[in-house]
Amino acid sequence: MKRILISCIIVGALCTSCKDQPLIFHFSEGPIHGTSFHITYEYPQNKDLDQKFLSLMKKFELSLSTYLPESVVSRINSNDPDVELDTYFRTVFKRAQQISTRTDGAFDITVAPLVNAYGFGFTEREIVTDARIEELLSITGYQKIRIQGDNVIKDDPRLMLDVSAIAKGYSVDIVAMFLEDEGVENYLVEIGGEMRCRGINPKGIPWQVGVDKPIENMLERQILIILSLTDISLATSGNYRQFYEENNVKFSHTIDPKTGRPVTHNLLSATVLAPDCMTADAYATAFMVLGLERSMELVNSDPDLEGYFITNASDGTFKSTYSEGLEAILEDKY
Ligand code: ADP
Ligand code: MG
Repeated sequence: MKRILISCIIVGALCTSCKDQPLIFHFSEGPIHGTSFHITYEYPQNKDLDQKFLSLMKKFELSLSTYLPESVVSRINSNDPDVELDTYFRTVFKRAQQISTRTDGAFDITVAPLVNAYGFGFTEREIVTDARIEELLSITGYQKIRIQGDNVIKDDPRLMLDVSAIAKGYSVDIVAMFLEDEGVENYLVEIGGEMRCRGINPKGIPWQVGVDKPIENMLERQILIILSLTDISLATSGNYRQFYEENNVKFSHTIDPKTGRPVTHNLLSATVLAPDCMTADAYATAFMVLGLERSMELVNSDPDLEGYFITNASDGTFKSTYSEGLEAILEDKY
């Protein structure tokens, strides 16, 4: 399949060091991982990096897409004995395991069989009984799988990985790190709402990023706050768009690995800031499992993390709670 990519040039603010020269930004967008990407980066006018973005994304999918049967992660899931682990897979797996430990198992990429059973994964939805949950819990758990040398060792061959809560963030990092290697000093990379930025935007100020109100209808998107960001990554997880309803019960797409059930508390969304987007993405999902209090404890005890949480108050209104360091970058509240 040929990927479509649209790109244009933005003439930005005047560069302060190179007198009267405007900054030239390129903007590229297109579809990826069932969502879309938007990349804005400062680069010479007569060159662009579009083809390189496409090849990086292709390489990424061949490693980490559960929708491609030939990807590294899919071949691990189907116990292909000939699968060769690549750097992308190793990086994501290692970080996922660290964050599982840090979050006491709230983040766990071995939830794949549960995610699939509830119909949010890569197979058909099932009827999930208590007995079935018990059975699926016996084949989940991040301590039951490890990398040993060139191989992935599973305690049970039915163990499977779902990297969707961390890989999207990592794909942002891959593009961002590539831009940095190219010497790009000002950029914003955004893939499906997860982003990483550096330097300044075309207006010559820090990147202005909005956090949406947690409402279901995408067409009625409303911005709740604007953050002024530079040299940082941001990811948001929410259960207000990805869910289904059955007999008046909402099934969210975040699974609590301890109970084997979709989470049900009043946390509507978690936005996380971290030095890299893989970390921000994974913690955002973990926080949806941990709930507000435990997440606030965690962000306030980790100097690398900031969090912005939206909960549903009993009167139906939204309540925002955020970590100590976030005040400084909060540009506007609505
Ligand atoms: P979004 O797609 O909204 O960015 P997330 O980054 O929060 O969402 O990822 C949600 C996906 O992560 C789910 O659809 C599921 O595939 C997977 N998942 C669900 N629960 C967990 C969990 N506890 N730990 C790791 N991954 C999870
Ligand atoms: Mg996530």
